[in-house]
Amino acid sequence: MEDTGKISPYTTVHVTICEGHGVQVVGETVKEYLNSADDFTICDSKGLAIADTAETRDLEFWKTASRKLYAIKTQDLAKAKATRLGKNTKKNRIDQEDNEVLNGLLEVELEMKNSAAKLSEHLQEKTNELSVSVTQVHTNAAQVAQQCSVLNELKAKMSEMVLARNISACLRQTLACKMCTSIPATEVVVTACCGQVAGCGPCTQTYLKENDSCLFCKAPVFATKLIFLKGFSEVLDQFQ
Ligand SMILES: [Zn+2]
Ligand SMILES: [Zn+2]
Repeated sequence: MEDTGKISPYTTVHVTICEGHGVQVVGETVKEYLNSADDFTICDSKGLAIADTAETRDLEFWKTASRKLYAIKTQDLAKAKATRLGKNTKKNRIDQEDNEVLNGLLEVELEMKNSAAKLSEHLQEKTNELSVSVTQVHTNAAQVAQQCSVLNELKAKMSEMVLARNISACLRQTLACKMCTSIPATEVVVTACCGQVAGCGPCTQTYLKENDSCLFCKAPVFATKLIFLKGFSEVLDQFQ
């Protein structure tokens, strides 16, 4: 308000009202916003100060009274009142006066933000969505883990099979008679001179009829350097 009595619009302040907040908090917010040393009184559209009561501390009051409210420096309030009282009391003049008051006072627009209940409902909704997502992630992780486990088992079995097949092929090659290439039927003849499998008994006997030295290392007196391993029939059957 200027000294001439003419009141000019100043600025608009948006204030968020919370449960339990009253007119005093609104006044403080305005003061803080304007960085002013002066206190402000919150008035209704008629320029009348709103009292700080249980009713005006209720969120419902601000909902129904919402719209535009005005903050005026407390020290200017009396001046505004005097101006109002000094006016003609006819209805049309009152309206005009109201407009002047409206123009001269700092506007405060009150915005109703989500109530605590709405916020809580929203949070619950988000929590549920999150919970569903987490469950899905767990389910997917469990399925992947199961598939990995099956794959690992298969891999291990295949490794065993490959190993068994390799061992089998290796043993077959080692046990095979070096003269007739078949697997000995009952006994395996091993050389004591160089420690190798010579082959089957019958082939060895045939070999000795014409040879005296080892068929591998050529050591002499081969007949005395032979070991006839018996008792392997069952094992040898597996390689026939
Ligand atoms: Zn043989
Ligand atoms: Zn030998």
